[in-house]
Amino acid sequence: MRRSEQVKGAPRLAGVPLGDGQLSHDLDPSDRSPKDACGVFGVWVPPSEADRAEVSKLTYYGLYALQHRGQESAGIAVSDASRIVVFKDMGLVSQVFDESVLNTLRGHLAVGHCRYSTTGSPTWENAQPTFRSTGAGGLALAHNGNLINTGELADRLPPGVLTATTDTEVLTALLAPHGGGDPIAAAREILPTVRGAYSLVFMDEHTLYAARDPEGVRPLVLGSFEDVGWVVASETAALDIVGAKFVREVEPGEMLAIDADGVRSERFAEARPKGCLFEYVYLARPDTTIAGRSVQATRVEVGRRLAREHPVEADMVIPTPESGTPAAIGYAEASGIPYGQGLVKNSYVGRTFIQPSQTIRELGIRLKLNPLREAIEGKRLIVVDDSIVRGNTQRAIVAMLRDSGAAEIHVRISSPPISWPCFYGIDFATRAELIAGELSVEGIRDSLGADSLGFISLDELIAASRIPKDDLCRACFDGVYPIPLDESARGKHLLEPSTT
Ligand code: 5GP
Ligand code: MG
Repeated sequence: MRRSEQVKGAPRLAGVPLGDGQLSHDLDPSDRSPKDACGVFGVWVPPSEADRAEVSKLTYYGLYALQHRGQESAGIAVSDASRIVVFKDMGLVSQVFDESVLNTLRGHLAVGHCRYSTTGSPTWENAQPTFRSTGAGGLALAHNGNLINTGELADRLPPGVLTATTDTEVLTALLAPHGGGDPIAAAREILPTVRGAYSLVFMDEHTLYAARDPEGVRPLVLGSFEDVGWVVASETAALDIVGAKFVREVEPGEMLAIDADGVRSERFAEARPKGCLFEYVYLARPDTTIAGRSVQATRVEVGRRLAREHPVEADMVIPTPESGTPAAIGYAEASGIPYGQGLVKNSYVGRTFIQPSQTIRELGIRLKLNPLREAIEGKRLIVVDDSIVRGNTQRAIVAMLRDSGAAEIHVRISSPPISWPCFYGIDFATRAELIAGELSVEGIRDSLGADSLGFISLDELIAASRIPKDDLCRACFDGVYPIPLDESARGKHLLEPSTT
């Protein structure tokens, strides 16, 4: 019998129109919004607590709390101290797992993942956790981030070893030496040579491991259960939902091993913190805490500063829900202009397995957001959103609000213009697709059809985050890439217009 195995998800996708490897469809195909980072989660309890703790269910709920970080695929690996079983599939956490599947995933430690693809396409093979047999056992790994020297790392592996096309697969193969052995020893040797963003949670049959790149680009936190057991997760909100207490962040350049001996920490590289500023703008949940402060508090503060930087006379401040809500609250507070709701969001909108019909498709953004005509008619509106990427969302909103009788529309954005692609885990468009890569602020205003447009300045955004400027990655806003990119990582996309 194989000691460890991977289980492909049940055929619940049968009958779905699967074209070109596409397993799901955006309701609004014109809204190709950026794909954010992934979510990772890991839990360890003593083997004697396995039945009570139900680690696969804890992992399910942890991933459920992190669903906003990746909606293409989900997976859980679990070990009962003798073998690792991985179950993963395309789709949302709630689509991939049900009670009967979770009941088969028994053990005392688990890692989980929800994914947006940043390297490699969204296919089952590329879903995570990735798994590798070492001959003596197995290693399952979940990764949030994006490596920038994948090619160089892959060259170190014998030909024919890789079965998937992700940076994560390469990393898993390097950390799972043939014949077994201590993954920490492998990590000590490999991680200092890995470049890019990686928040990792991985496991063998007995031990849960975590590691974070020296820049700490993506978040990763350690939590504990009051009685006994440990959790590692992308965001503190995932600790809250499983009833774990926040202990501390996994430090940049640190790795952890967690088992019956407790938590052992080791540094594999000097910390050079460059936390992603866009986590504050959009990626992280508002109820997540970074450096002791809720992301919501930062976003409201950004809104206050936005009001001071870009004031305008108006009758009502409305958010683009949900992502624009905290900044709109701050804007209204600082400007004294009443806050109101002008757009209603369908909370259930997301990816669907039903291909939208042509008529539905033409309605575009209305599937997601619908205007409240009585609230809007005749009013001068300030519309607040967190970011403009391609500009499609705000262009559609401006048109919809005008249609509903708005007298004036002033768009205010709680991040600076996004002019540069991300190589560290957000699938932002190529430079040519980023509206701010091509157009000035006035050009963007004109393209949106707004009466005025204001972006918060980079300095004000950084001030609101309360993190020193030098400890942040601001590359998508200022083009300064803190982890040097060589030509192969930049590819042709960075500097030239490209359609791929
Ligand atoms: P645009 O329509 O300009 O291309 O995209 C802007 C919209 O996308 C904003 O409403 C913003 O909230 C949202 N957005 C920003 N970053 C991300 C991301 O990483 N993932 C997803 N799904 N949406 C994002
Ligand atoms: Mg949004």
